[in-house]
Amino acid sequence: MSGRRISIFGATGSIGESTFDLVTRAAPGTYHTVAVSGGRNVARLAAMAKALQAEVAVVADETLLPALRAALAGTGIEAAAGTSAISEAASRPADWVMSAIVGAAGLAPGMAALTAGATLALANKESLVTAGPLILATAAKHGGRILPVDSEHSAIFQALAGEDIAAVERIILTASGGGLRDWPVEKLASATLKDASAHPNWAMGQRITIDSASMFNKALEVIEAKEFFGVSPDQIEVVIHPESIIHSAVAFHDGAIMAHMGTPDMRHAIGYALHWPQRLPLPVKPLDFATLGRITFRAPDLDRYPALRLARQVMETGGMAGCVFNAAKEVALDCFIAGNIGFLDMSWLVEATLDRLSADNRLGKAATNLEDVLEVDQVARTTARAVALSRARS
Ligand code: NAD
Ligand code: MG
Repeated sequence: MSGRRISIFGATGSIGESTFDLVTRAAPGTYHTVAVSGGRNVARLAAMAKALQAEVAVVADETLLPALRAALAGTGIEAAAGTSAISEAASRPADWVMSAIVGAAGLAPGMAALTAGATLALANKESLVTAGPLILATAAKHGGRILPVDSEHSAIFQALAGEDIAAVERIILTASGGGLRDWPVEKLASATLKDASAHPNWAMGQRITIDSASMFNKALEVIEAKEFFGVSPDQIEVVIHPESIIHSAVAFHDGAIMAHMGTPDMRHAIGYALHWPQRLPLPVKPLDFATLGRITFRAPDLDRYPALRLARQVMETGGMAGCVFNAAKEVALDCFIAGNIGFLDMSWLVEATLDRLSADNRLGKAATNLEDVLEVDQVARTTARAVALSRARS
């Protein structure tokens, strides 16, 4: 069993598929797959486990264990199910672990991988928003490393290579503006699930696509950048860049700006994290400036994107506000997907949840253990659901 030991959590999703694509292109023997996980798609999970000859495949939904067992019968691949089985698989010794589960559900497996000393390729931005100081401290304590996979954060990480963070004047996070960026603002309230589930540039999971339309995705990313790079909130600027060619940039005190450019393909960021600290060829379309012609930028309108204002509020509040923000956002998104609230009600629901919990003294300080984070996450979800229900009744 030679090869670099890797695991992919959230393998059946958009980031997971792109990771699988890169891993399966490598020469035989390059990688040895320890674990793969998926939410509910047993057929795809089993096919990936077989193709990668993984040691274990884990499905999040426990009722699907018999189906996974049947799909893996005779292969020698272990089948497991449930959230604790995912964390157990993440704690198995590995060199490189992809964290690509969507939502706060990705936090515990990521923590388990870091505790086991793995390098964590972190697509799951919710981990840093929910428990930034804890996850960074866990990496430091166990000698693990976090490599950002969110395209913006990968871009910033690359722009910072060999630089001193003290030389940074500001970080420029680019945003495509999402699927509704050209809608008149007064029409946004009537945006349907279908309207919000289409993205002009990136093919991604449905949840992050809707979050791009509402800019909750960019709000999470602003907090993610603050946590990961340790800059102050006022050093983070968001700019709308509809073509998604500049994936983000860093402005230094000497006036120089280093930007990462490329075609909008997540395999740039995943591949960089996979091969880091090397740069190896990737199957991405080359960017041709002359064909591209031009790229454009504009400032975001905060009235149009209340999520960006809320991100500032969350960073000012500190403590566990990020955990509440993310949990409330996940509930709001569930409600929108279920058709229970409108598109603009999502930011209203998140703000109302933050307000309601602002006096809760459990939230004042950043959490130092996973249990406290998960407790606040639950409190925030319960509160957000209650707020949503009271709104539906009124
Ligand atoms: P996705 O919905 O396509 O895939 C999510 C994966 O997690 C799937 O394997 C799904 O089965 C699994 N999953 C869902 N709920 C789960 C649960 N409760 N427990 C365990 N597994 C569960 O999502 P995606 O677009 O691939 O995004 C994954 C993560 O990467 C998110 O945190 C997202 O914000 C981040 N990200 C994605 C992109 C992108 O281009 N897709 C870009 C940057 C960051
Ligand atoms: Mg991103």
